[in-house]
Amino acid sequence: MTAPRPGDVVVKVAMAGLCGTDYRIWTGDRRVGYPRVLGHEFVGTVAETGFAVTRVRVGDRVAVEPNYSCGRCPLCREGNRNLCLSRTAVGIDVDGCFAETVRVPERCCWPAPAGVADEDLMITEPLAVVVRAVARGDVQAGASAAVVGAGSLGLLAVQVLRGRGARVLVVSRTPRRFALARELGAEVTRTVAEAPLEETARAFSGREGVDVVLETAGTPEAVSHALALVRPGGRVVLTGLPHDPTPVVFFSVVRREVTLTGSMIYQDEFPEAMRLVATGTVKTRPLVTHRFDLDAIGEAFAAHARPDSIKVALRVS
Ligand SMILES: [Zn+2]
Ligand SMILES: [Zn+2]
Repeated sequence: MTAPRPGDVVVKVAMAGLCGTDYRIWTGDRRVGYPRVLGHEFVGTVAETGFAVTRVRVGDRVAVEPNYSCGRCPLCREGNRNLCLSRTAVGIDVDGCFAETVRVPERCCWPAPAGVADEDLMITEPLAVVVRAVARGDVQAGASAAVVGAGSLGLLAVQVLRGRGARVLVVSRTPRRFALARELGAEVTRTVAEAPLEETARAFSGREGVDVVLETAGTPEAVSHALALVRPGGRVVLTGLPHDPTPVVFFSVVRREVTLTGSMIYQDEFPEAMRLVATGTVKTRPLVTHRFDLDAIGEAFAAHARPDSIKVALRVS
């Protein structure tokens, strides 16, 4: 690896997580500029610093925010850098963390709290996505909340919502992760086929539906499930990225004055995500179902596709 440019650092990767985005790039489903080193969820140690780097020092353990914005456009200047149209995504637009070292701007590095294992901090990136989504849901203590989808984002959402004092209902296509969802704080779990979702939401909330729904599955069906669960005047936060056209019955959005909001990655949520891990509010170990050395990356991708997999971890150094 070449020496870091001014303002950049080289991070020696300790542990990396594999996610659906990596998988889609790996299979060719999503195309990027090749050759490309994939991977964007990681924790490591600063190994080298370029000229004028002040935020971190060599030897600092850091979780890396794998997106950086241009810093100059109107969106960036008004505090919406997660929406910057010139945003650079590590592991997609530039080389990522499925490697021994990765070069990133220093502003991507968030110092890791002492005493928290790399394997726990590895989950900071997807957790930051959830922290932002929950904030956009304006969740109050005592609120009733539903999480649609029980993948890694859904299971993190359960815990962040519990941490905010909400009661949580989990809705998923299969009951496969329900025992774990309950262990992590879900009060009620239901498959989409078990009963009409409106009824489930009314029984759970004790009123016309739940106050807030977090959609994490990213499928067109999941959006309609979210709208079925929410109460009039409630909020639906969409975090999954539905790539297929999604039919929405807007009659029910208007008639019930539902607030429908998107939530895109994160911009200042990394410290809060790490704090939730450090305090034990969010448990990450139960989500890591597979571990591989970087040399076995092919096996790691194969494991990601298996039904029993939630989060696949790569031990890099
Ligand atoms: Zn990811
Ligand atoms: Zn910008």
